[in-house]
Amino acid sequence: MKNFDVIIAGGGLAGLATAAQLVEKNKNLKVLVYEAKQIGEGASGVPAGMVNPATGQRARMVWNAEACFRMLEKRLEQLSALSNTILKYQNGVLRPAIDENLAENFRLSLKNTNWPKGWVEWLEPKQIQQLIPQLKENSGGLFIKKGKVVRTPEYLNAYVRYLEDSGVTFVFGGPYAIDNREGWTLKNRKNAFNAPFLVMATGHKAKENKLWSDLPLNAVKGQLAIYHCPETVSHLPAVSAYGYLAPIDDHKIAVGSTYEHHFHDENPDSQGAGLLDQKLQEMLPGLYPKCQRIGQWSGIRVTTPDRLPVAGEHFERKGLYIFTGLGSKGLLYSEFIASHLAMHITEKKELPYEISLYRFSRMEELREKAREEN
Ligand SMILES: Cc1cc2nc3c(=O)[nH]c(=O)nc-3n(C[C@H](O)[C@H](O)[C@H](O)COP(=O)(O)OP(=O)(O)OC[C@H]3O[C@@H](n4cnc5c(N)ncnc54)[C@H](O)[C@@H]3O)c2cc1C
Repeated sequence: MKNFDVIIAGGGLAGLATAAQLVEKNKNLKVLVYEAKQIGEGASGVPAGMVNPATGQRARMVWNAEACFRMLEKRLEQLSALSNTILKYQNGVLRPAIDENLAENFRLSLKNTNWPKGWVEWLEPKQIQQLIPQLKENSGGLFIKKGKVVRTPEYLNAYVRYLEDSGVTFVFGGPYAIDNREGWTLKNRKNAFNAPFLVMATGHKAKENKLWSDLPLNAVKGQLAIYHCPETVSHLPAVSAYGYLAPIDDHKIAVGSTYEHHFHDENPDSQGAGLLDQKLQEMLPGLYPKCQRIGQWSGIRVTTPDRLPVAGEHFERKGLYIFTGLGSKGLLYSEFIASHLAMHITEKKELPYEISLYRFSRMEELREKAREEN
């Protein structure tokens, strides 16, 4: 039996950020990340992760945007210094107003939201044309200067190297059995690992786990396509309209994404490819005819009814935690929430209500019931 202080199941953005926050808060902690397949196997393997704090049709500022940004930027800087490849493109994110309604929403967001200085500005159609000459005609748009694109697979690789250097242990491969008689034991064909705390950061697979079946989690499949473009695209900002478009290399852009609430399998398909071609054509009609689709990817994101992630301890299984529901904001939210979760596990600090399990009435009912029975 190999003993640890914390075992984290799942090596996506949630799992890696939790491991980092734990060892950074206490370097003596022995942390194991147990990944069933490979790093980036889940939604976090998305080829291009947009970091955009202005969300939805009304361009609302995301929850705790400044703190989330601060923590992500710190991590990006640290990992970039350790990496010999580009991890991010900091060209901003453009949200073109594709009709007058959206233009009005964006103007209202500028007027009514307390955006930090220098984060967002309004661009007139002419200014947008200068920024991206190939873009579809529009009614102006919101330019999120602070926005960026992360090459997520490269980011995860650098993250693993950093965690290994920090003493975190990685184990790959399932299946395993879980035993909860003395702490939490994960037993695979070769070894057994035990810790008083187990964090399930298993993305959409949490939905298949009976212990978490009362959590209101939705799984939404998304497909993305990669295009090769003869002209240089790495200077372009990401574009968020009809979907999103993001440079991932000098001559490659990623176009996403589909939102499939009902799906039979997890793989990319020809219907998805057709939709993504159409998105590129709509967004960049000036570039589309010259680009060639060279790859496709799919993943399953997890959302909650209020679109915020969820983290916390099971209502009756002591030491068992969950961290999921990052939706499409994994980069922005993962460090900030992992930091709270790490303090919750090690120092018993309460988690913010907005991300707690018990903001959902069913979970609160179950906790009350468990309390009454004990
Ligand atoms: C189409 C699409 C577009 C996206 N766009 C963006 C974007 O623009 N910006 C952004 O920030 N993010 C984006 N994302 C990523 C998104 O933010 C995800 O929500 C986030 O990556 C989820 O991270 P996670 O660690 O919770 O889950 P995952 O990345 O799914 O990781 C879960 C991991 O757990 C492993 N696992 C599963 N079951 C077990 C088990 N029983 N034991 C051990 N390991 C297990 C899996 O193999 C996987 O590696 C996008 C995702 C998709 C699908």
